Amino acid sequence: MTDFETHEHDVLVIGAGGAGLRAAIAASAEGVSVGLVCKSLLGKAHTVMAEGGMAAAIGNVDDRDNWRVHFADTMRGGQYVNNWRMAELHAKEAPECVKELEAWGAVFDRTADGRILQRNFGGHKYPRLAHVGDRTGLEMIRTLQDHGIHQGISVYMECTTIELIKDGARVIGAFGYDRERGRFRVFKAKAIVLATGGIGRAFKITSNSWEYTGDGQALAYRAGADLVDMEFVQFHPTGMVWPPSVRGILVTEGVRGEGGILKNKDGRRFMFDDIPDNYKNQTADNPEEGWRYTQGDKNSRRPPELLTRDHVARCIMREVRAGRGSPHGGVFLDIAWIKEKLPHAPDHIKKKLPSMYHQFKQLANVDITAEPMEVGPTTHYIMGGVRVNGDSQMSTVPGLFAAGEVAAGLHGANRLGGNSLSDLLVFGRRAGRYAAQFAKENGAGSLDKNQVERAAKWALAPFDHSGAGENPYAVQEDLQTMMQDNVGIVRREDEMKEALQGIARLRERMARVRVTGNREYNPGWHTALDLLNLLTVSEAIAMAALERKESRGGHFRDDFPDKDPAAATYNHVTFRGPDGRMQLRRETIPKLPPELQQVVEENK
Ligand SMILES: Cc1cc2nc3c(=O)[nH]c(=O)nc-3n(C[C@H](O)[C@H](O)[C@H](O)COP(=O)(O)OP(=O)(O)OC[C@H]3O[C@@H](n4cnc5c(N)ncnc54)[C@H](O)[C@@H]3O)c2cc1C
Repeated sequence: MTDFETHEHDVLVIGAGGAGLRAAIAASAEGVSVGLVCKSLLGKAHTVMAEGGMAAAIGNVDDRDNWRVHFADTMRGGQYVNNWRMAELHAKEAPECVKELEAWGAVFDRTADGRILQRNFGGHKYPRLAHVGDRTGLEMIRTLQDHGIHQGISVYMECTTIELIKDGARVIGAFGYDRERGRFRVFKAKAIVLATGGIGRAFKITSNSWEYTGDGQALAYRAGADLVDMEFVQFHPTGMVWPPSVRGILVTEGVRGEGGILKNKDGRRFMFDDIPDNYKNQTADNPEEGWRYTQGDKNSRRPPELLTRDHVARCIMREVRAGRGSPHGGVFLDIAWIKEKLPHAPDHIKKKLPSMYHQFKQLANVDITAEPMEVGPTTHYIMGGVRVNGDSQMSTVPGLFAAGEVAAGLHGANRLGGNSLSDLLVFGRRAGRYAAQFAKENGAGSLDKNQVERAAKWALAPFDHSGAGENPYAVQEDLQTMMQDNVGIVRREDEMKEALQGIARLRERMARVRVTGNREYNPGWHTALDLLNLLTVSEAIAMAALERKESRGGHFRDDFPDKDPAAATYNHVTFRGPDGRMQLRRETIPKLPPELQQVVEENK
């Protein structure tokens, strides 16, 4: 018999980033008991790394902004495969959610007359990102935590969930272990909110933290939930490329929002060479107009550096592949040039981009107020994820909700910068409320001890394997290299087929993974347990990417470089078939209702 501690709550939230904290606060406000589980320490979730800001059409800097423009921008950015209901709710509710955060004590940067300041970001027509320098995520987490701590939420830190427990079709609990001592824990709950973030650690070059091993997506999948559009992975155009130890660390889009420009090794501002047709009438004709836009001139259009991330990333790759890149395989991002325009440019840069200044100074010995940075694409975000109902955030499994990066729909084929932080607030709040309602309407399920026993046996298997076994780090590294090379920013059928075969081989190796030592503070064991999730999300990404025979948003096919209008009509749903194997089906996207279609048309 396995030894474990049991905890019982009405609602269990798994993940304490922006989405999880907001969900926990919302559920608690409905008067139910809430447990909050997280893999790292409270306050250390990935959200803390968010830099540039949160998008909300408050209209403080440009009063032409409103939810209709934000909705149209999000749909255009997502290339119309978004869940339009989520895009509508997000655009309408984000302003209220940001103001709520302000009321709870978030110290935003301010306009001269004391309102929340908003900055430009890629794909947003007007300055829309509420921000705190380039440390917005830290302020969001701090505020939500300060507020949440008074709501009577029980927090279980450094506790990894490894399986969801079901009673019939419904989810009624979760099984996990505390990372410190390795002791098992069982959580009984009437409703569960997954808020576990993304999958970036499936790739070699990523801006994502160690936590991003696709746990929530894989837990939901194993519990029978649908995943949707897993092929849409965002490769952010600007990650650090040098030195090797920091490769992939994010360089915020805020640099370009403040006037930073991209140049190749010949000093050419290459982004002017390729402006997509559907953005031509919103993009500056010349550098001077682009600069004026970044300085708040309402009559100017955005510089091409602020086109959507998928496009900018591909333009960078084109320069690198054509031999016009920087010495270490990227291109140059220059904010120092603004000294030609602003008298106190170095101080201005340090004030607006303090983290970027320190990041480059300390990690790369580059002074960004005086010289350009070297940047290149890095795996950043997954638009696909757990399929949810747009209003309630409930997945296809009763009692299982998902919010934040782990959930899919809002961003379609490509996320606009800043739309994640507001997504966390809008849909974290909705998930928490609806989970509480579900908990009130449904009794506690009955806990099947056999499921717990099976999960515990599986978790301990890496200690039991004899002989040389497989090193979990080696399996993880081989997967990351393969995903980077074969299912990365430029994809081809033969390479993705190879990746799927490779994933099957890595699954066999995973079954032989061996760890030594005991359960206390054992990172090798933690890595061994993460492998199943990494392999599951990798398979879903490769399978869906192979099936999408076109290029759209974050998904670029070398063998199908164009968009296929017919492919704008469906989503890809991956699910666990009756034989336990992954399957995929197409599902038609419901038509936009006429009033939303009109919003799209009027903002073209
Ligand atoms: C460097 C960087 C900068 C960014 N800047 C911006 C920005 O300016 N604006 C913007 O909109 N977006 C930005 N993003 C994206 C955005 O930060 C993320 O998408 C968002 O923070 C995800 O929040 P979340 O609440 O979904 O998950 P997270 O904040 O990642 O929280 C996930 C939580 O789940 C827990 N967890 C995971 N697995 C388990 C498990 N098995 N068991 C228990 N707990 C688990 C983790 O411990 C953590 O507490 C940025 C991303 C990066 C990497």
